[in-house]
Formats: sequence, structure tokens, C-alpha cells
Amino acid sequence: MNLIGTTAIVTGASKGIGYAVAAYLMQHGADVVVTARSEDALTSAAEELSATHGRRAVPVVCDVSDATSVAHLFDRATAELGDIAILVNNAGNSTLDTIDNLAEADWDSVIDTHLKGTFLCTQAAITHMRTRGIKGVIVNTSSVEAVATTRGNAHYSAAKAGIDKFTEVAALEGGRHGIRVNGVAPGIIVTPMTQAAATEEFHRAWQQTFSVDRFGEPDDIAKAVTFLASDYAPWITGITLLVDGGTHLRGLPDYAEHLLPGTN
Ligand code: NDP
Repeated sequence: MNLIGTTAIVTGASKGIGYAVAAYLMQHGADVVVTARSEDALTSAAEELSATHGRRAVPVVCDVSDATSVAHLFDRATAELGDIAILVNNAGNSTLDTIDNLAEADWDSVIDTHLKGTFLCTQAAITHMRTRGIKGVIVNTSSVEAVATTRGNAHYSAAKAGIDKFTEVAALEGGRHGIRVNGVAPGIIVTPMTQAAATEEFHRAWQQTFSVDRFGEPDDIAKAVTFLASDYAPWITGITLLVDGGTHLRGLPDYAEHLLPGTN
């Protein structure tokens, strides 16, 4: 795979999956704008990425759920790197609660970050690519939770299922302009997001869902994203690729039982 001379934006790239995606794109030759809300963590991540991979990682602070912030991101990205050929919508957050207890603020925050954020960044990217005649690529981050169901995560699952359908519509619309749009749907990946809530019992419950017998690593997702963004996937659009070690075959653990005691 050759991404030499290519430019990308990766949202939510200060840590976890987004950091690994930026690293893989850079290893294959791309210069990357990395975004997150927390400036210090983002700046350190960008410095480390540039020092390690010999390409440019440009930090731009952005809240993907805010249209003004996304407009600023694209202004800065094009000022720094020129044409942007790849967008990876990866920024995400998570809270857990059953529907009867779910706070409206948590619903709004999760839906806005994932679903609205994916919309705003995709809209900006398609506009940018169309205006400049770039036959670009967009990769959205979904989740196995869009297709498998558990208790305690309705807002997150709904957001990710929404992203899958959004990916299909965006692929139809983008296709007319030579723009491909796909998604990746990770199973459980060892990142700060999942480690924050996990107990040993939860880890054991997850272990039983795998067909490939291990937890996922950020690199597992980065490889799939890099493939979909590359010239190895020129005729793939409108799909969401499950990268979950086979969890969709066996089903998710019950989050309410393992992470929300007292909700049974
Ligand atoms: P992390 O919590 O490790 O990283 C999340 C990143 O997103 C950080 O850089 C964070 O930085 C950024 N972020 C969060 N909210 C916003 C926002 N509103 N605007 C811009 N950036 C934001 O998460 P993961 O790496 O685990 O997850 C990455 C993606 O993969 C998410 O979409 C997640 O839903 C998805 N996923 C993860 C799975 C897993 O098991 N880890 C499984 C399935 C899907 P900051 O807080 O500074 O903004």
C-alpha cells in the first residue's frame, strides 16, 4: 500500500485507535492532521507521531460535535497540508446506563460526538473534495455494537447503527464525485476508553465472545482503516467492515450485568 504524497485528517487521534490509525497512515507515506479537544495531549501525540514516522503530524484542536470548530479544522488542515484526500471519523466517547437511568446529557453527548460529528466532518470533507476535484476517501468508525445488542448502551449502539446507514448514503452521494465512503466496526479494543470501565469479570466475559482468541489492539483497526483508505480498495464503497475477532458470531457480554450492578 502506498500513501506517499497523500494527506489525511484523523479525528480523535490523541490516543487509542485514532493514534494508531494516524501512525499507520504515516508509515505508509501520508501527512496527517490529528485532532482532539485536549490540546496538551494532542500536541504530545503529534510530536511523538512526527518523530517516529518521519512524516508530518499537525495538531489541530477540534470538537467534532461543533460546526464552527469543524470549519476551523478544515481551514487549518488545508492551510497546513493543502488538499485533504482522506478523512477518518474516529472521535468518540462512551457512557453506560440502561435506558430508564440514562441522563439526557449523556444521550446528547454520545449522539453528538459520534453521529453529528461524523456528519459535520463528512459534510466538510465532501465539500472540500468536490470543490477541489479530489477523488478522496472517508472511513467512519462504527462498532460491533451497531449489529450485536447488549443492555446498558442504547445511545452508543444507536449512534453507531446510525453511522452505518450514514456511511451507505454518503457512499451513494460521494460516488458521483469519485469519493469512496466506508466504515470499520471494531469489537473490543484495548484503549483508554475501554480500560476506564473494565473490571476483571468484564474482561472474562469478553474473552468468551472471541473466535480469534484475544482482545483487539488499536493496530488491528488501523490496518483495516489503512486498507480501506488505500489503492488496495479502489472498488470498495458503502460497506462497514467488522474487525472484531468474531464477536458478532457469539454475541456481546451483558453490560448491565457486568458493568452496572443493580440494574438487573
Ligand atoms: P479513546 O477514548 O481512547 O480516544 C478517543 C479520542 O477521541 C481521543 O483522542 C479524544 O480526545 C477524542 N474525542 C472525544 N470526543 C471528542 C470530540 N467531541 N471532538 C473531538 N475529539 C474527541 O477511544 P477509542 O480509541 O477506544 O475509540 C475510538 C473510536 O473507536 C470511537 O469512535 C469508539 O466509539 C470506537 N470504538 C472503540 C472500541 C473499543 O473497544 N475501544 C470498540 C468499537 C468502537 P479528547 O477527549 O481530548 O477530545
